[in-house]
Amino acid sequence: MHRILTISSVFTLFTGIILAQGSATGDKAETPRNVILMIGDGMGVAQVSIPYYYMDEEPVFSQFKYIGLCRTSSGSDLVTQSSAAATAMSSGYKTYNMAVGVDMDTVPQKNLVEILSEKGFMTGIIATSPVTDATPAAFYAHVPDRYMQREIAQQLARSEVDFFAGGGIKYFLDTAGVDLFKENHIQVDYSKLKKIRNPNPGDRYGFLLSADRMPAILEGRKDFLSDASSIAIDFLSTGKDGFFLMVEGSQIDWADHGNHAEYLITEMNDFEHTVRTVLEYAMKDGETLVIVTADHETGGFALAAAGENGYGGDYDSIVPVFATTMHSATLVPVFAYGPGAEKFMGVYENSGIFHKIMELIRSE
Ligand code: MG
Ligand code: ZN
Repeated sequence: MHRILTISSVFTLFTGIILAQGSATGDKAETPRNVILMIGDGMGVAQVSIPYYYMDEEPVFSQFKYIGLCRTSSGSDLVTQSSAAATAMSSGYKTYNMAVGVDMDTVPQKNLVEILSEKGFMTGIIATSPVTDATPAAFYAHVPDRYMQREIAQQLARSEVDFFAGGGIKYFLDTAGVDLFKENHIQVDYSKLKKIRNPNPGDRYGFLLSADRMPAILEGRKDFLSDASSIAIDFLSTGKDGFFLMVEGSQIDWADHGNHAEYLITEMNDFEHTVRTVLEYAMKDGETLVIVTADHETGGFALAAAGENGYGGDYDSIVPVFATTMHSATLVPVFAYGPGAEKFMGVYENSGIFHKIMELIRSE
């Protein structure tokens, strides 16, 4: 990591002097070839702070120079659900809380996977939830209610998504005798992640590794999220026109809902580890825009000094505390690296994530 950083800063120096243009990240171009959007579900600034106190290494978040904040309220409510927030980021439309890929009037709106596929991008979706859960679904499906997971599964099979990994086998069963995957040229592995060697052009690949959600880190999920991201990048970068990949740390949100600190800390550190893997690739590649953000904050989480009533506390010891078991309206952080990363500075609406990506891709 240190070696890569050094090379990157030297490159920045040279591009700065010679070209006197471009951003200060060592970017080769203003227009990204690839876009990787990483979503920590329920990950506010306090959750991002976790690895700073519960990990030995310097967290990867310190390596981002372009940082912003997003307002996450949905089209219907001050406090959003994951479905509406993901729809805002995937399509640019603020919608009602239960909506997946449809606007306030339940009209389907095009998402990043559909728009970028038309431009020749290969696309991938990875989650530690079922791949049919609200956040990933908003990147390929259009349904009026997030709980229509069997319909969402059908739409995934028929979508433009070239790679997917996560849980949710049960939502793909009972398709009236039709082999959904075979019919749609998707090779699905139900046992374990593995590299995709010599992919057939046009073939699509899926890893469905549990009936419903993936196990938690505390239950032994190990490096699934990071490994799936590496495998996806290897495969998707074989395309000739770039790729779009969405990676979700889904269970940060569930740990927050449960006010379960150990669950939260382990899921957060796993997400950090995955961001590290992706950023290492982007630093070497130089043409990949990486955006790390959240759909909303959950739990009203804080890393508080120990003690009560504001007096006599132990300011040298941290206690993870939660204000709620619900989502909150707190602004969420956005970290960006790569070509166009500076666009993500400032305070803006979550739908701005979609518009900023589109502006960068359009400026080709
Ligand atoms: Mg989610
Ligand atoms: Zn939630």
